[in-house]
Amino acid sequence: MKTIGIPRGLFFYYYYPLWRTFFEKLGVQVVVSAPTNRRIVDQGLLTAVNEACLPVKVYYGHVLDLCHRGVDYIFAPRLVSVEYRGYICPKFMGIPDMLRAQIPDLPPLIDIKVDLSRDERQLERDVFELGKLFGSDRYKVKAAWAAGQQELEEFRRIAAVGFPLNQAVTIWERAGEAPMASGDKTRLNPGGENIRTGGEASEATPRSSDLTIGVLGHGYSLCDAMVSMGLVRKLQELGARVVTAEMLKTDEVEAYASTLPKRMFWTLGKKNIGSALWMDEEPAVDGIIYLACFGCGPDSLVGEIIARRVVNTPFMMMIVDEHTGEAGVVTRLEAFYDMVARRKNAV
Ligand code: SF4
Repeated sequence: MKTIGIPRGLFFYYYYPLWRTFFEKLGVQVVVSAPTNRRIVDQGLLTAVNEACLPVKVYYGHVLDLCHRGVDYIFAPRLVSVEYRGYICPKFMGIPDMLRAQIPDLPPLIDIKVDLSRDERQLERDVFELGKLFGSDRYKVKAAWAAGQQELEEFRRIAAVGFPLNQAVTIWERAGEAPMASGDKTRLNPGGENIRTGGEASEATPRSSDLTIGVLGHGYSLCDAMVSMGLVRKLQELGARVVTAEMLKTDEVEAYASTLPKRMFWTLGKKNIGSALWMDEEPAVDGIIYLACFGCGPDSLVGEIIARRVVNTPFMMMIVDEHTGEAGVVTRLEAFYDMVARRKNAV
């Protein structure tokens, strides 16, 4: 059986259930790189160009991890646009070229281009070509893609009820391992208190408290515990209920983003701005944290817009890079949490 490696970085946190299901339905064994650790970060830092942001450097480390595992292929799509008239940061477009240029003895890359703004049919054609590579006919490919889309929807439902993307990935994977009756897969209560029934409490179970903190940023930074220094988990350990962009209604986020005088054409930037503006007007949200990466072009604009427009709710921007120390992050988080709690008690 052929093996395909999926790096645990960048858009992994948004599309992994789709990719995994699709390849497995084609009869390909999926290998995912290890959760980010010090070795992966160091290897990425040594290999990637200095100008790259931390998430891209970490992605390199994940690709190298897969190289060491001896996979037959590595899946590194060239993401340009994942929605009509919405674009992904240019670094994503160059990822396959940068990897080929800088990693010798790289296994063949599967770098299908996703550009839904230009030609939706091209993705379809590329997906069929991919199927051929693994010996599948059109019917099998179509069924595999449909199954992938279905799992992606399921995963998004999990995230929407109160789980940050990394925790939603864990829950989705566990749901796939445990046989369950249809409809029993994710019976989550609308308060976001978790609950996958039919099993013991997940370690990913968020704790609820009186404080609700909106946490924004790129999913691959927020949900990678090494990149974000475990920001989400630390807030949950402090007792906060964490709300992320994925937990909000898409149409409401879009409506708030559309109040900008000029349309934001970066998909993630639009999502973060719309979510921040929504949170700023939502009385249940007590504070907002935006996690940005040093050297990120889009963040230099998006973070600034958010910082200027959030006016009702305590706001903190945290900028991380490979030199950020955990102690500093914890100190700032605790100080912000205490300030938000005092403010709430004083009202
Ligand atoms: S949006 Fe920013 S953090 Fe994300 S890949 Fe681009 S430069 Fe890096």
